[in-house]
Amino acid sequence: MGGGIVGCSIAYHLTKLGWRDVALLERKKLTCGTTWHAAGLVGQLRATLNLTKLAVYTTDLYSGLEAETGQATGFKQNGSLGVAASAERFEELKRSASMARMAGLEVQVISPAEARELYPLLNIEDLVGAVFLPNDGQTNPIDTTMALAKGARTGGAKIFEDTKVTAIHTGTGPSGPRVTGVSTDKGDIKADYVVNCAGMWAREVGLLCGVRVPLHACEHYYILTDPMPDVPAKLPVLRDPDGCAYYKEDAGKILLGAFEGNARAWGMDGIPEDFSFDELPGDMDHFMPVLEGAMHRVPALESVGLRKFFCGPESFTPDVRYYLGEAPEVRNFFVAAGFNSIGIQSAGGAGKVISEWIVNGHPPMDVADVDIRRVIPFQNSKRYLQERAPESLGLLYAMHWPYRQAETGRGVRTSPLHERLAAKGACFGEAAGWERANWFAPEGVEPKYQYSYKRQNWFTHAAAEHKAVREAVGLFDMTSFAKFLVEGADAEAVLQRVCANDMAVPPGKVVYTQWLNERGGIEADLTVTRLAEDSYMVVTAGAAAPRDWSWLNRHIPEGASCRVTDITSGLAVLSVMGPNSRDLLSRVSDADLSNEAFPFGTAQEIELGYATLRAVRVTFVGELGWELYVPGEFACHVFDAIMAEGGDFGLKLAGLHVLDSCRIEKAFRHWGHDITDEDTPLEAGLGFAVRLDKNADFIGRDALLRQKEAGKLTKRLVQFALDDPEPLLYHNEPVYRDGEAVGYLTSGNYGHHLGRAIGLGYVNNEEGVTADWVKAGSYEIEVACERFSAQASLRPMYDPKAERVKV
Ligand SMILES: Cc1cc2nc3c(=O)[nH]c(=O)nc-3n(C[C@H](O)[C@H](O)[C@H](O)COP(=O)(O)OP(=O)(O)OC[C@H]3O[C@@H](n4cnc5c(N)ncnc54)[C@H](O)[C@@H]3O)c2cc1C
Repeated sequence: MGGGIVGCSIAYHLTKLGWRDVALLERKKLTCGTTWHAAGLVGQLRATLNLTKLAVYTTDLYSGLEAETGQATGFKQNGSLGVAASAERFEELKRSASMARMAGLEVQVISPAEARELYPLLNIEDLVGAVFLPNDGQTNPIDTTMALAKGARTGGAKIFEDTKVTAIHTGTGPSGPRVTGVSTDKGDIKADYVVNCAGMWAREVGLLCGVRVPLHACEHYYILTDPMPDVPAKLPVLRDPDGCAYYKEDAGKILLGAFEGNARAWGMDGIPEDFSFDELPGDMDHFMPVLEGAMHRVPALESVGLRKFFCGPESFTPDVRYYLGEAPEVRNFFVAAGFNSIGIQSAGGAGKVISEWIVNGHPPMDVADVDIRRVIPFQNSKRYLQERAPESLGLLYAMHWPYRQAETGRGVRTSPLHERLAAKGACFGEAAGWERANWFAPEGVEPKYQYSYKRQNWFTHAAAEHKAVREAVGLFDMTSFAKFLVEGADAEAVLQRVCANDMAVPPGKVVYTQWLNERGGIEADLTVTRLAEDSYMVVTAGAAAPRDWSWLNRHIPEGASCRVTDITSGLAVLSVMGPNSRDLLSRVSDADLSNEAFPFGTAQEIELGYATLRAVRVTFVGELGWELYVPGEFACHVFDAIMAEGGDFGLKLAGLHVLDSCRIEKAFRHWGHDITDEDTPLEAGLGFAVRLDKNADFIGRDALLRQKEAGKLTKRLVQFALDDPEPLLYHNEPVYRDGEAVGYLTSGNYGHHLGRAIGLGYVNNEEGVTADWVKAGSYEIEVACERFSAQASLRPMYDPKAERVKV
C-alpha cells in the first residue's frame, strides 16, 4: 500500500527474491505523496552501523539501477561535505567518521581550506573542520522511483494507480489476528502479506486494522535559486548542520533546504483527501533565519534571485527513526514508513529488509533501532505526535549530544515516586515515555543537563552516586521495568520453549535468561521469577516491552493454557543496591535477609513498614542488593521508610546513568546494544544462562548446538578499559587489535570505580576468538579519529568472581 519510493522499492525487492504475486496499490499516482518533491540527497552516514550499512546498500543499488532498468535515475556520486562551525560539532563529525569507516565507508576528515577546494562557494572563516564522503550522492526521486517501479513490473509485480485501500481485513490465526487482504475503491484483494508504505498516511492506514504507526507530518522547506554562473557541475552536497541547512547543486542552480529548530507540524486535522503532488503555502518569514545563515555560509546566494520557494510535508517519528518490520498487533502486516526526510536514501535498504523479512521470516540483520516493535501505544496519540514531530525535524541537524533528552511530550509516564525524586534533585530523562531519574543534583545545583562530548555537568554527581553504590548503598527507582504475569497450567511448558535457561525451577527462584530465535540470536534478555506452580513474573526493560510481549504471546501454542497479563502499571520497583543494602533493609523489615535464608537468585514476599511486597535478590550493578516490587499505592510509604533510615548506612539516591556505568564495569550486557538478534549467547559470553541439557527443547537450541560443534567462535564480546583516564566512550567507537580493525564498541561509559572509560564490544577473527587470542593482542580504541590504548578482558574487570554479589 503506497506508491512512493518505499513501496516501489519493496515491490522491486520482492520480485528480485522471486515473488511474482505482488500488487502495489497507490491511491493516486506514483510519487504523488512526499517522494515527488524530495531534494534527492543520498547520504550514507547514519547514527548506527547497521543503518549506515543499509544506506550504503541504497547507494550501491541506485548506482546500478539505470543500467539495469533502462530508466534514467539522475543518480550521481558527487560526494558530500559536512562542515563544522564549532569544536564540539567537529568532534561529532569525527566520531561519526570513525564509525562510518567500520561500515566500509570512505570518509576524509579535512581542514576548512580543503573543504573550500571541494566547494569553492564556501565561506570558511568560522569553520573548524569538515568531513568529506566521496561516494555520497544525489538522485532524482521521481525517476529513481519510476526505475524501481519498472524493475518491479519486469519482475512480475502489478502496479495499480488510482486505487485506494479503504479497509484491511484480518482473520484469527494461532497467535492473534493475521492479515488476510484489503478492500480498495476498485474491489477486494486477498493477500498473505500486506505492507503499509503509506508515508504520512501510514498512521491512519495502520489504524484500519488496529496497528499503531506513530508519525506526523511537518512542513519541510527549501528554495531553488536562479541559475548561478559560478556553480561547478560536480559540486558535492553540502551539509552545514550549525546553519540548519543543506545545499544541492541542481542544473546550475542551488537548492537550499532547512532542518530548523522551530519546525511546524502540518495536517493537524488529517491530510486532505485530494492531496496529490501538492505544495503547502509555507511562510517565508519562517525560512528567513536559515536563508540569512546560508548567505553567510555561501555568500554567492546574496546576489542571486529565487526561482522557487517550496514547502512540502514529510512525516516524522517521535525518535527520528523510521519504522520497519512486522507489526506486533497483526501477523503478516508489515510497516515501512516514517522516514524523517531520509526516505530517498533509505528506500533501498528498507526494500531489502522488508522483502527478506517477508520471504525468510526474519530480517537480514539487527534492525532493532528502527523496528516497529519499539512503539509504545501512547505514542500514537495525536497530541503527543503534534508536539514531538516538529522537535524530531529540528533534531536532524541539532547537536547529537550524548544523553540528549527530548524537550517535548514529556511527563507522560511517571512513577509514584516522581514528586519525591524531583524534590531530591532528580534530573529526569525519558525512555519509552517513562520519566526516569538519570542523575541527582545536590542541593544548590540545578538539575539540568549541560551537554558536551566531554565530561558533562553531572559527571561529579554521578561519581558520588557510583561510589555510594559500590561502597555503601544506592536506591534506584526502576519502576519503568515492564512486568508480565504468565499464568496457566502450561505456563512452564511455554516458558521452557521460549527461554534458553531452565524454567522448571521451584517457586521463589529467579532465572536470568535469553529468548532466542531459530538462529540462536538473542531476541530478549530478562529475568523470570517463578511465583507458583502455574505462575511466573517476567521482568524486562520498559523500552523492550512491546517486542517481548509480542514475542511471548506469539509463541503460545493454540489451545495452550497460558495467559500473559501486563502488570507494569500496578508495581513500582525500588532497587536497593550496595554492600550496606542488607543492613539498611533489615532496619526497616523483619524479614531474614541473610545469605542462607534469602540467597542470590531467589524471591520472597516480605513485610516492609506497613507494606507487603516481593523482594527479588538480583543485581544489575554487581553488588549485594534487592529489587523491591511494591504495589503502586505503597511505593511512597516504602520509599519514605527506607529513606528515613538510609542516613546511617550511607544511602544515596542513584540514577540511570550510574546504573549504566556500574553494569558496564561489571560487564553486564544490555539488550539492543551489546546483545541483539544477530548475536548468540555463546558469542555474548552468556553461555552460563543457557541450559542445553534441560529437560525440554527450546527455540534456538539446535543453532547453539551447531555453533558449539563448529568448535570456534568467530566473534566474542569483550570488555575494554582505556589506559588514558581522560577520553570518554559512548558507543560505536572502533576497536583495533595489533593495529587492525576487529570490531567496535556496543556500549560505553565512564567507570568511576575503575577510574577510566570502559566499554563492551565484539571482536571478530575468522580463525576464532579464543581467550588466548584476546590476551595476546594489544588494543586501541578510536575516539573521534584518534586512537587510545586499551586493556581487553573476557572476564568482568570489576569483581570477576562475583564475590560482592553472593555474600
Ligand atoms: C522538501 C522535502 C525534501 C526532501 N529531501 C529528501 C532528500 O534529499 N533525501 C531523502 O532521502 N529524503 C528526502 N525527503 C524525504 C522523502 O521525500 C520521503 O522520506 C520519502 O519520499 C518517503 O517515501 P514514502 O514512499 O514513504 O512516502 P510517499 O512518497 O508519501 O508515498 C506514500 C504513498 O502512499 C499513498 N497512499 C496513502 N494512503 C493510501 C491508501 N489508503 N491506499 C493506497 N495508497 C495510499 C500516497 O498517495 C503516497 O503516494 C524530503 C522530503 C521533503 C518534504
